Amino acid sequence: MDGRATRAVRQRLESLAAAGVTSLPKPGRGIAADPPQSVACGTVQPDRVRGLAVLRQQVADCTRCVELAGTRTQTVFGAGPPDARLCFFGEAPGADEDATGEPFVGRAGQLLTKIIEACTLTRDQVYILNVLKCRPPGNRTPLPDEVANCRVFFERQFATIDPEFICCLGTTAAQGLLQSAEPIGRLRKQWFTFGRARVLCTYHPSYLLRNPAAKKDVWEDMQMLMREMGLAG
Ligand code: URA
Repeated sequence: MDGRATRAVRQRLESLAAAGVTSLPKPGRGIAADPPQSVACGTVQPDRVRGLAVLRQQVADCTRCVELAGTRTQTVFGAGPPDARLCFFGEAPGADEDATGEPFVGRAGQLLTKIIEACTLTRDQVYILNVLKCRPPGNRTPLPDEVANCRVFFERQFATIDPEFICCLGTTAAQGLLQSAEPIGRLRKQWFTFGRARVLCTYHPSYLLRNPAAKKDVWEDMQMLMREMGLAG
């Protein structure tokens, strides 16, 4: 292996370690060299593209939460293939997302990218969305009324994408989707359903930035997800 290849392997291993990966698949089931497995459901249907475009505009026009509509730079609808097999469901945009209009682009987003890559996927193979489409001022936790106002949007988003798997990131996403009051620690490690999707809950990447020791728990959750998706893990 030449110097460049060695550096690339080292960078890849460092990135996986940063995501909390503690073990690698057995030889022959490589996660770096193998071409990524397709995680899309098939041909993108024009109905899905059209449906999401209509919904995106409705979100952009929404003023149901007076405070959020008055303080946002823009709404953050979500990003990814309209026929993604897997959706990552977060809480709400932060400052970076409010500025760019894209979900999970700040520090938590960079960690989410590493988690996705540790699952042998790429960001553009999954759909990423949040419960709230507007940034709560000061990044405060979304209020129950705000979650209720946005419910119609994320429910329609999921109904349109019709994913096989949804991974809820953190308490707001898990409780919001499942309409549960259980803490995230109790919602992990079990499968739920939402429509036709199977749902797994794990800790939010922002929590991992504050509590790196929990990365091993998230990696266990991701291995559970990968097994069900038929990905190397
Ligand atoms: N945290 C979230 O929950 N969503 C984002 O888009 C960014 C940070």
